[in-house]
Amino acid sequence: MNVLLIGSGGREHALAWKIAASPLLTKLYAAPGNPGISEEAECVPLDIADHAAIVAFARDNRIDLVVVGPEAPLVAGLADDLASAGIRVFGPSADAARLEGSKGFTKDFCARYNIPTAAYGRFNNAPKAKAYARSVGAPIVVKADGLAAGKGVTVAMTLEEALDAIDQCFEGAFGEAGAEVVVEEFLEGEEASFFCLCDGQNALPFGTAQDHKRVGEGDTGPNTGGMGAYSPAPILSDDMVERVMAEIVRPTMIGMAEMGTPFVGVLFVGLMIGPDGPKLIEYNVRFGDPECQVLMMRLKDDLLVLMNAAVDGQLGHLSVRWRDDAALTVVLAAKGYPAAPEKGSQIVGVADAVGDDGVAKVFHAGTRLDGDRLLAAGGRVLNVTALGETVSQAQRRAYETVDLIDWPEGFCRRDIGWRAVEREAA
Ligand code: ATP
Repeated sequence: MNVLLIGSGGREHALAWKIAASPLLTKLYAAPGNPGISEEAECVPLDIADHAAIVAFARDNRIDLVVVGPEAPLVAGLADDLASAGIRVFGPSADAARLEGSKGFTKDFCARYNIPTAAYGRFNNAPKAKAYARSVGAPIVVKADGLAAGKGVTVAMTLEEALDAIDQCFEGAFGEAGAEVVVEEFLEGEEASFFCLCDGQNALPFGTAQDHKRVGEGDTGPNTGGMGAYSPAPILSDDMVERVMAEIVRPTMIGMAEMGTPFVGVLFVGLMIGPDGPKLIEYNVRFGDPECQVLMMRLKDDLLVLMNAAVDGQLGHLSVRWRDDAALTVVLAAKGYPAAPEKGSQIVGVADAVGDDGVAKVFHAGTRLDGDRLLAAGGRVLNVTALGETVSQAQRRAYETVDLIDWPEGFCRRDIGWRAVEREAA
């Protein structure tokens, strides 16, 4: 098979690595890719917002499957444009991608299909949103409706903060994404991420993870795309996963099919596990980054077989095998991230940091090559990932690998996995 992978982050490097290991693969292309991905695939400098160029490339190069990594092209209808051209694609249609692209859509969908989530109101003007926030009181959560790269959500501990956040949305801080606002109940509990591969009808559980969104140790400081993650998530026991499947995932698959927008691709279920059980915080319609990196380290099966089965509606009789090990990934970011990462510094020692025993792997995110010098080209730059019999062991191995990389202009959190490590020590 010829496969085209869309994206350029650590998530896509992990996907490229697994796809490249498949005996089904003839040739892997990545658009636009990165230096790590170029070890697994031929990188092609396509603009992923230019759907016509991607369709033309897929036709000219006899691509049998396009795998879309990030959400923006899915929400913008890339899967629809490929499908209309007769090209097989792993990823949801724009209509199905509304599960991530519109928080208001998702909240109404949950209400209609009885999916447990925070109580909410949907508003298109500030006075009504504020009146609702006042009636509920703090703590309360304010969300811009559309995609805002994780920045459109304010978890307000005071009413003033919530009212401010509402003003910001309607004053255009998030552009069109903030033209509508969801105000919702604050949920107590522990967060966890649950993944499924979906074929339109069937959802196949595809692993659990927990991530660290804040930039600083002890989960402090501003939100980021994610500073690290580990898998599995101890709080998502087999019983809890069964509840999530029964109460959230299966109703979602049924609802989407009933509405004529069956979901194909990765359903990433963001959960709050509280005293009443699991509640949905959000859906994403693709793998998490960096959660994907830890899932790929643990996956034993052929990813391409699974993705093909999802596209062909054949997931019903499949199961997935995982390594028993835990996996943990530490994000190395450029100093100044998330506000103003310094780009262009040189990173030394990446190739020699990992042995060939498969225990550790460095996935590239924002890197670029200048001749044979590896340079930082973005905020999140490398994902140092390791396996271990426990999260504690995986953590130790990941930081040992981090310490072999010579990059004074970079930084990482030193406490990735703390919750699981504390549990293991108890
Ligand atoms: P991202 O893409 O970064 O995951 P997002 O912009 O899609 O974020 P959400 O996942 O809905 O937004 O919210 C971001 C974070 O805010 C969540 O991971 C969670 O920590 C917190 N949060 C969101 N909704 C609630 C809620 N109702 N109660 C408590 N915390 C919440």
